[in-house]
Amino acid sequence: MLADVTPLMRVSAAFTRFVTISMHLSSFSFRRAEQLTRVFSLFILLVGFACAIGVLPSALGAEGTGTLFLMSAATGAAAPARQPAASAIQVDGQLIEPAWSQAETQTAFLYPWSKHTAPATEFLAIADAERLYFAFEVGDRDIVVVKNFAGESTVDQEDRVEIFFAHDAALSRYFCLEIDPLGRVHDYAASYHRKFDSGWNCSGLRAAGRIRPGGYTVEAAIPLQTLTDLTGRPVSQGSILRVGFFRAEFRQGALGDADDNWLSCVRPNTPKPDFHVPSAFTDWRVPRGARAAAGTFRTRGVVLVPEDLPSADWPARAARAGLTTIALHHGTSTGRVTEFIDSAPGREFLEACARLGLQVEYELHAMRDLLPRALFAEQPELFRMNEQGHRTPDANLCVHSQQALEIVATNALRLGRQLPPTTSRYFLWGDDGLPWCRCPRCRGFSDSDQALILENRLVRELRALDPGAQLAHLAYANTLPAPTQVKPAPGIFLEFAPIHRRYDVPYAQQTGAEAKDALASLTENLQVFPAETAQVLEYWLDVSRFSQWKRPAVELPWSKSVLTADAETYAGLGIHHVTTFAVWIDADYLRGFGEPAAVQEYADALRRCQ
Ligand SMILES: [Zn+2]
Repeated sequence: MLADVTPLMRVSAAFTRFVTISMHLSSFSFRRAEQLTRVFSLFILLVGFACAIGVLPSALGAEGTGTLFLMSAATGAAAPARQPAASAIQVDGQLIEPAWSQAETQTAFLYPWSKHTAPATEFLAIADAERLYFAFEVGDRDIVVVKNFAGESTVDQEDRVEIFFAHDAALSRYFCLEIDPLGRVHDYAASYHRKFDSGWNCSGLRAAGRIRPGGYTVEAAIPLQTLTDLTGRPVSQGSILRVGFFRAEFRQGALGDADDNWLSCVRPNTPKPDFHVPSAFTDWRVPRGARAAAGTFRTRGVVLVPEDLPSADWPARAARAGLTTIALHHGTSTGRVTEFIDSAPGREFLEACARLGLQVEYELHAMRDLLPRALFAEQPELFRMNEQGHRTPDANLCVHSQQALEIVATNALRLGRQLPPTTSRYFLWGDDGLPWCRCPRCRGFSDSDQALILENRLVRELRALDPGAQLAHLAYANTLPAPTQVKPAPGIFLEFAPIHRRYDVPYAQQTGAEAKDALASLTENLQVFPAETAQVLEYWLDVSRFSQWKRPAVELPWSKSVLTADAETYAGLGIHHVTTFAVWIDADYLRGFGEPAAVQEYADALRRCQ
């Protein structure tokens, strides 16, 4: 993002091609159908469909063997989709929100019916006034999932975690949630002994799963009102529930009929594996707290260009600091970023981020690539008109050309597939600080409105590819003023980048007539866009900006007090997503100036801000 200088200064070197599917796909939410499809292709090698089918009959006939194979037959319905969480915790299979650091944990999982050493299993839980959030971190080197999901009972053939809630200690009625490594749920009601009602669905349940190196994570949220309804008494933070925590640990050749297929937190008083008995349950208190779930910065990121990455070990630095996200950026060329991601160093970068639990996003000035300039010779009407009334391919497009919108949408989908953000948050910006169209139909719309016309179209298309997709509306330079005529479609979020502000004075104090990119622009934009999803893109760590985009780089003029004040300002406006350019904190910079304390101090300031 360069408003003032030649864009080629940020051009990266070219690299070779590709990326393993597995790291691309290390993050799953259940609704991301395309990702699931691709992930299944990985695990078909572990669990062929024929294998699953072959095992099922014997399991069904195994008296007393783990519960779940004795469930009724598959309903045939597709597994229910779980909506993304609207609260501070996003149920996405990644426990990255600060609230999770306050979770209560249980790690005492054992094999009640086997002498083998049980694999690592951790149960985590937190609650707020509305929901119980729980998660399982599961160590598992041979994850068993079924490729052809044929209704919720398919989960019975897979590795999974389980939580049961009892209405009463004698189990006259109890409720079971079983969730596989992809976040797919089999929920059913039951009564002692083993009378199952698979038609029951858990109201308001959200679940997601994420397969990662060495195991998988399941994350879920259940409304406290649902637990109140199930248990017949008010459930809130601190309430005591009667619950069971279990895990099915399958492997090739042992899909439920081995004694070491079943883990629990307690030893049920049964000779053979069976969780459907009163002695498999225990009293458990709904955690209090999770104050940090509200008001904190869920995204704490840095934005880099590909050439910053070699030899600078950014994933490790970001993870050490407690950052959540690294975004890759280029000022003029989406191709530079796709080339990097398709290269061996790009693959290593994605693998490192996945290993360290970092989100990866792509923030790109993309229009000149999404509407190829070569089309101008044949179809100038696709392009913008300048103030002199001439069509020109110098930047952006005519947003009242349906054909231009169509071409841009098609290419945006292609780019989204090449560079899938792990957060489903897409950033396909207009050309860097450059004007939009002045044709008779566009002229009445500001640059901000024109950008939003296009973004509204693109987010609809992206949601066909990725149902949870969100798309940034970049408020920056010529699009800094809030749109006045166009309203954002669902999925559009504000990204606010005050490139012209000062960094030696807290932002909130920059209010005079001379103030550039003043905070008022943000508050005006927040009248149009929801604060809940809005993101601030700052320049606190942007060595390239402080160097006036000219080498050699200067040392970062860092002010911790300004950053701390700014973070409080943004938190006070309800902002939950903050990133900063950290461009040119690269291998050269580290050699010249050493490790910048600013990175850690930036991360700390955001984390402490409530
Ligand atoms: Zn136009």
